[in-house]
Amino acid sequence: MASVPFAFLDGALDRADHLRDDAGALTALWPQARVVLLDDEGRAFADAGKALLAPTGTQLGGGPGVATFLGLRDAEAWFAQPAHSVAFDAPERADLRAAATHWPAFDATVFAQARAVLHWHARHRYCGACGGEVAFVRGGWLGRCGQCGSEHYPRTDQAIIVAVSDGERLLLGRQKSWPPRRWSVLAGFVEPGESLEQTVVREVFEESSVRVRSCRYLASQPWPFPGSLMLGFIADAEPSTPAAGDELEDVRWFDAATIRAGLARPWNATQGESEDDIALSSPISISRWLVEQWLELRGPG
Ligand SMILES: [Zn+2]
Repeated sequence: MASVPFAFLDGALDRADHLRDDAGALTALWPQARVVLLDDEGRAFADAGKALLAPTGTQLGGGPGVATFLGLRDAEAWFAQPAHSVAFDAPERADLRAAATHWPAFDATVFAQARAVLHWHARHRYCGACGGEVAFVRGGWLGRCGQCGSEHYPRTDQAIIVAVSDGERLLLGRQKSWPPRRWSVLAGFVEPGESLEQTVVREVFEESSVRVRSCRYLASQPWPFPGSLMLGFIADAEPSTPAAGDELEDVRWFDAATIRAGLARPWNATQGESEDDIALSSPISISRWLVEQWLELRGPG
């Protein structure tokens, strides 16, 4: 896959599903394997320079045990494990947002995978059917209830994120908790029994009262804060006056010149001359990329 301009895709491991059931192979890979250690807040162990510190299996001792097998980079195996389960310490911790900005793409992507799967483990220790204790097998990718035998698979929370346009302008909203001047495209979780296209129409209407006429899928991004998958769309909508619903403080149409100027400003800018001096989401997110895509598809002018 070509390099993509947002985080958590480049450098993805070969997940090597065939090895998940092969305890002998995982044990043989363990001594040279690299192990991503996450604390209870989902932060990764880091060295004094705040770079990823992933010890080898030999440094941790023992065998893969309860470690989750993330996959292979060439012949090198990568595992993830909660830090509280090992006798190993590190001088620093790194959170995933900082890692996405400052770490090499591979390191940030492997951290994102580790964080997503270990979060699933942490929140699914008991069976949803009978309340029995769940044991994670298949290298950490299958949960099996010790009481009723139910099998539980890793889950992600799907959310749509959408650049809505009336042909000329882009619809952006802002939440009350955001820094001044920050605006973003709209997003919302997919509900059970709903198609992605239906979610786009419903969420945009709930958040802005604007009616989407059509939409088209562009790309997706794993977003393990803590367990989402962002599905990026572009949509055409009626040019009606937006009205913020419960989730947003404000929602407005912005013209291309304002959007272009917003992209040229630092994403975390909080100062400006006029109301139209906006700042857009961080470059790690598909949110900003969708804004750029809208401008590009719209063409110059
Ligand atoms: Zn059960």
